[in-house]
Amino acid sequence: MSKIIDIIFKPTLYKYKKPFHITGSISYEAKNLEVIIKTESGVEGYGEVSPSWRVNGESIDIIIPLEKRVREVLIGEDVRNWRKILEIIDTFKSTPGLKTALGFATIDAFCVECEIGVWEFFGGYTDNIETDKTVSIGEVDEMVEDAIRINKEGFRKIKIKVGENLLKDIEAVYKISKKTKAEYIVDANMGYSPKEAVYFAKKLYSLGIDISLFEQPVNFLDIEGLKYVRYNSPYPVCADESLKTRYDAKKLAKEEAVDFFNIKLGKSGISDALSIVEIAKSFNIGLMIGCFSESSIGVNQSVHFACGVGGFKYCDLDSHLMLDEKKYRGKFLQKKNKIFVRK
Ligand SMILES: [Mg+2]
Repeated sequence: MSKIIDIIFKPTLYKYKKPFHITGSISYEAKNLEVIIKTESGVEGYGEVSPSWRVNGESIDIIIPLEKRVREVLIGEDVRNWRKILEIIDTFKSTPGLKTALGFATIDAFCVECEIGVWEFFGGYTDNIETDKTVSIGEVDEMVEDAIRINKEGFRKIKIKVGENLLKDIEAVYKISKKTKAEYIVDANMGYSPKEAVYFAKKLYSLGIDISLFEQPVNFLDIEGLKYVRYNSPYPVCADESLKTRYDAKKLAKEEAVDFFNIKLGKSGISDALSIVEIAKSFNIGLMIGCFSESSIGVNQSVHFACGVGGFKYCDLDSHLMLDEKKYRGKFLQKKNKIFVRK
């Protein structure tokens, strides 16, 4: 009764409430795709992909034509054999976001059939997490105002986007830290050279500023550069763009290049994300979870993954808060900075 009988691809479009500016990219809208998997017992599982061209070389135009192939390989499979299904899904190597949506929709359907929450399926570690909220790149005054507003909204962790202008970035982070009371994550999205990154960190440290994580300071291929920043910076360094597959995790860990992994389901798919967690544990690497431009349906995937698996010290799950979405549809409840899975 648990065989997949139908798979629906549904493109969606969301506008950002305010343009989202990070190193080398300004987003005005998110072209996402929802995936609905139906089983013969009438159950539906939901997934979403917010394809990232910048990180994965994945776009909605690449994904949509794959619908026929997806239907061919998945219809008739039984969601109770979810590991086998994930293995089939993993053959879609060039579209990791689609892998996530398909994998999550499968597990979601399986969990509805079992009458358990997806967070319980993933381990049931905790029913809530705390998320940060992000300040995108802008003029210094504007960034400070955004940070103050985010802080007043109740967020105690603030992520600050940097990477386009070294001296202005230092000024922005310094001023934000003086005007707010929070923990700070800075994300350069590959914008610095290794030496610039070290200058940035040492300068802020000398000004007495505490930063909890320094995310992806240098180019994603520059593993030596990441390692250089890690050992020459006073702050923990976190891999984001450098970490997609379990093989990236193994390499980063063996090279001792970073202190933290930022896992995004949209970079890895479900099976690689699960493997990366175990690799991180084996090498004492800390865990963060992040997102692309997912709506509440897509953020739901990461919420249930992070709550179920546990151990995510930092959660950067705020894209749904930045999109103009008419109605939250995730199986979770957002209360300021806290996210609770719906039981
Ligand atoms: Mg990042």
